[in-house]
Amino acid sequence: MKHNLLVSVHDLSIKPGSWKDLDLSISAHPEFKTDLIEIPATQPIDIFGKLESVSEGILATLEIETVAQASCVRCLDPIEFDCQEEIVQLYFYPNHAPSSKNSHHKSKNSASKSKDEMKSEEEEEDLLFVEGECIDLEPVIRDALLLDLPLNPLCDENCQGLCPDCGDKYRDLPADHQHQQIDPRWGALGDLNL
Ligand SMILES: [Zn+2]
Ligand SMILES: [Zn+2]
Repeated sequence: MKHNLLVSVHDLSIKPGSWKDLDLSISAHPEFKTDLIEIPATQPIDIFGKLESVSEGILATLEIETVAQASCVRCLDPIEFDCQEEIVQLYFYPNHAPSSKNSHHKSKNSASKSKDEMKSEEEEEDLLFVEGECIDLEPVIRDALLLDLPLNPLCDENCQGLCPDCGDKYRDLPADHQHQQIDPRWGALGDLNL
């Protein structure tokens, strides 16, 4: 459950206006991946910016930088992407959550809720909370990174991919590369003595 993207806000005064700088390089974190691209758990994620105490909670204004790995969808070459994202996220104090229209007993007894209940409600309402003097950067970093990764990673926009006949990369083949394949219909024509 605990991981390195939990950041303590213990030393931040609850008084609005206080803030602290954050400058971290995390090299052991949950792995972030889509079907085609991944940021392995050991790939450092640099996080810098500031955490600010505001009346409702802690406002995180951060830049993150890391490198994602993928294979070109056309030629399968390994490729790397520099990822740079900006994050602005408010983490509410548990008793300062904004009252929503259907705020059915939400804030009243949120302190007694299990982690799972908290989790599903967060997802439902997309709110994040300061929990036990920590803020969890994982969900925001995950969203920021994954939403910005290309759906079809390419080594180059003009990647020609692989020859469907021999599987070699067009890039490594002569421009006039082709396979002598005679369409059976043309073959039949070739038999005609014209
Ligand atoms: Zn390619
Ligand atoms: Zn070929």
